[in-house]
Amino acid sequence: MASPSEQFPDIHSVNAVYDVLIVGAGIQGSSTAYHCIKQGLKTVLLEQFSLPHSRGSSHGQSRIIRYSYEQTHYSQMMTEAFPMWKDLEKETNTQLYKKTGLLTISLPPMRSLYDSSLEQMRKFKRAHRILDHEALKKEYPEMNFPKDSLVFMDYDGGTLRADKALRAYQDRFKDCGGILKEEEKVLEITPGPVVIVRTNKATYKTRQLILTPGAWAQKVLKPLGIDVPLTVTRINVPYWQEKETGVMSKVPNLIFQLENDKHVYALQELEYPGLTKVPYHGGADIIDPDYRDTVHNEAVGRKSDIQLLKRFIAKHFPLLLSEPTVIETCMYTETPDSELIMDRHPLYHNIIVCCGCSGHGFKLAPSVGKILCRMAMGKESHINITALSFKRFKNSCLTNKAKL
Ligand SMILES: Cc1cc2nc3c(=O)[nH]c(=O)nc-3n(C[C@H](O)[C@H](O)[C@H](O)COP(=O)(O)OP(=O)(O)OC[C@H]3O[C@@H](n4cnc5c(N)ncnc54)[C@H](O)[C@@H]3O)c2cc1C
Repeated sequence: MASPSEQFPDIHSVNAVYDVLIVGAGIQGSSTAYHCIKQGLKTVLLEQFSLPHSRGSSHGQSRIIRYSYEQTHYSQMMTEAFPMWKDLEKETNTQLYKKTGLLTISLPPMRSLYDSSLEQMRKFKRAHRILDHEALKKEYPEMNFPKDSLVFMDYDGGTLRADKALRAYQDRFKDCGGILKEEEKVLEITPGPVVIVRTNKATYKTRQLILTPGAWAQKVLKPLGIDVPLTVTRINVPYWQEKETGVMSKVPNLIFQLENDKHVYALQELEYPGLTKVPYHGGADIIDPDYRDTVHNEAVGRKSDIQLLKRFIAKHFPLLLSEPTVIETCMYTETPDSELIMDRHPLYHNIIVCCGCSGHGFKLAPSVGKILCRMAMGKESHINITALSFKRFKNSCLTNKAKL
């Protein structure tokens, strides 16, 4: 495989002008870097921390993958993402996807998740099945959901091995000649036909800049005249011990709708033997990503999600201990409508932004990377992502600084 300097002879020169520079080596930046280098673009990926790290949103071993989505654009993105994850598995000879099936459960009158996702499953002809109460009880006696629950199975749903997926993208990027620089924090961006990017260590020139800074998006975008309505929260990720060895091994992944956009979801044992991952998605403490775990945050940290989950486990998963064994931490970066932001800077069209993944972006990464790469090549997205634009927000998020 060509080394970076063989592939692009001037790549390390101080005068090098990159085709693409990407800020943030989480799953979105890493997937985008992979796509760009595969297209022959001279690409550099900058990450503020030493890799791997657990201070963003892409760490940990597992994420849900599913076809079932409420919106057409994500169904289209998953249509291309599923085979792309499989391609990455082959390319890196690494298992990244574990098929478990995924149950979507709503309890009337709260049924929007069930109705909209089922409609998409039918529209896209995805393998699925509706389970009535009898079938649910018979096939999954380990769970206990009310008689009037609405349930369907997405047969292709499962778990992505998140840490391995992240590493796979980064390794392939480097193998193909890309430059990945760790411990380089971007401090200043000067827009122009050639964008100047200054870090704590060097200054770079690039024709296209892609910003995938996760929870740091507001900090990166504000100096560029964009004030995005993002909420960054600290998420508890609890794991629950089974009462007897193996009793939960056949339970598929699932999402249970509590309220409109509040869910509890569960992932089959993967990273820790005998432990089921069951977190809450629906509000947590707002934090500054640079101070995620400070004593202050611990002190004000709401444990109400853990209390809610304890009640949920006791009621619906009687074969799990209703006290978490392990609690890990992650961050959500949420938009008001829970839709991602993927767009060009409204004024500087060679600056492309992806942020606000709202707690569901991991599985989409192959498609996100392909779209961002196409945009960097001056093409339009092949999937209609109008719903993800800055335009949906007031003044396209432009501040007075940018409008001057
Ligand atoms: C608890 C939890 C559960 C989740 N479950 C699922 C799930 O089941 N399925 C699913 O699909 N998704 C899930 N998600 C969401 C998914 O993990 C995220 O949407 C995704 O990881 C976001 O990736 P990212 O690349 O945008 O951000 P990040 O991974 O945070 O990457 C951003 C990177 O940018 C770097 N950076 C920021 N600023 C700078 C700078 N100035 N200079 C250099 N580098 C910088 C950061 O250090 C960071 O590494 C979950 C998220 C959490 C927290």
